[in-house]
Amino acid sequence: MSVKENSDIKIMTPGPTQVAENVYHARSLRTTNPDLDPQFYDFYRDTCRLFGKLIHTENPCFILGGEGILGLEAACASLTEPGDRVLVIDNGIFGKGFADFVSVYQGEPVVWSLDYHNPLTKEKLRNYLEKDHDFKYATIVHSDTPTGLLNPVEQLCPVLKEYGILTVADSVTGMFADELNVDEAQIDIVCGGSQKALSAPPGLTMVAVSREAFQAMHDRKTPIRSFYANLLTFETYYEDQWFPYTMPVSDIMGLRQALENVAADTQQLARHGKIASAARKALTDAGLTLYLESGFASSVTVFYVPEGMKAQEILDTMVKKHHIMIAGCFDILAGKVLRIGHMGNNANIADMTETLSALADTLKELGFVLKADPAERFLAYVE
Ligand SMILES: *Cc1c(COP(=O)(O)O)cnc(C)c1O
Repeated sequence: MSVKENSDIKIMTPGPTQVAENVYHARSLRTTNPDLDPQFYDFYRDTCRLFGKLIHTENPCFILGGEGILGLEAACASLTEPGDRVLVIDNGIFGKGFADFVSVYQGEPVVWSLDYHNPLTKEKLRNYLEKDHDFKYATIVHSDTPTGLLNPVEQLCPVLKEYGILTVADSVTGMFADELNVDEAQIDIVCGGSQKALSAPPGLTMVAVSREAFQAMHDRKTPIRSFYANLLTFETYYEDQWFPYTMPVSDIMGLRQALENVAADTQQLARHGKIASAARKALTDAGLTLYLESGFASSVTVFYVPEGMKAQEILDTMVKKHHIMIAGCFDILAGKVLRIGHMGNNANIADMTETLSALADTLKELGFVLKADPAERFLAYVE
């Protein structure tokens, strides 16, 4: 495959998502030297400010040159000192994954493993913290993409703060698909990514860092054991007119356009909510079983592979016959569930109808007896 004959597959995956034409265009514009051109520092700062406004925070925001994982690692690298106890809230695959970052930086992850089918409640968290709250910070996933679980961070993070625990929240898939008010949630470090509901290509992570989080980094007894993942190196980039590494200028120009698209869309969250709810009902009517019991995110719908069928066979047929890519899963859910990503530019009625119709055809071909036509049901519910 050459650059010119690029893929014609429609990606209805839970990230990366379909990219808007104007984002592609912004990425193709002429670029400056981002280290030396003062105009770029203003452009970067304004882009960060727009991001902060959209996630409802006064905290300083930064765009880091690396995929979503960099944000999670940077948060843990910057906060963790050897021996620090960190509460890792494990109610999803990404939730559990935070333990690895804590360990790499020699912290002591205390993994609290919970039900993957329902969100954590404030009451349950309070009960846990009453027994043990000796943690420097806690990690939580706002929206866990492999399971589709949405945690109520606006309720949970303030409880952690009451106990003096800093919070790191992965909202890579949460932000812009489901409501996120960072200041109301009192999140100390929130992480986002370019390739989910923002519908820009992968390559960037965005973070908002509270004063308390920066203070904790300044108060460390040992230096941050990373250069690329050190958030302190960004703290005064504007005053110093200095970035720790050359910023990926085209990526950031695309991101700016993607943020402006979100800012201009008054129906962004309503659209996500409506499409997600119709998708769940349509798949259920068709005789499929959803993975979650409650706490559904609006970004992705996760359902079980029907008895006796193979996930890979369904995925392959979807691509070969219909040119539509949905996703399977990984870790403990590998081969068990399928996922349709309907966030960002994927969250539109035409693509969802086409995807559900292709899925119905695929399942029928592979021997599953549908109880209803999911595309037809979807259209009826979404109107
Ligand atoms: C996509 C995503 C990330 C970034 O991880 P990749 O697997 O590299 O895309 C982090 N957290 C969540 C919840 C995500 O959905």
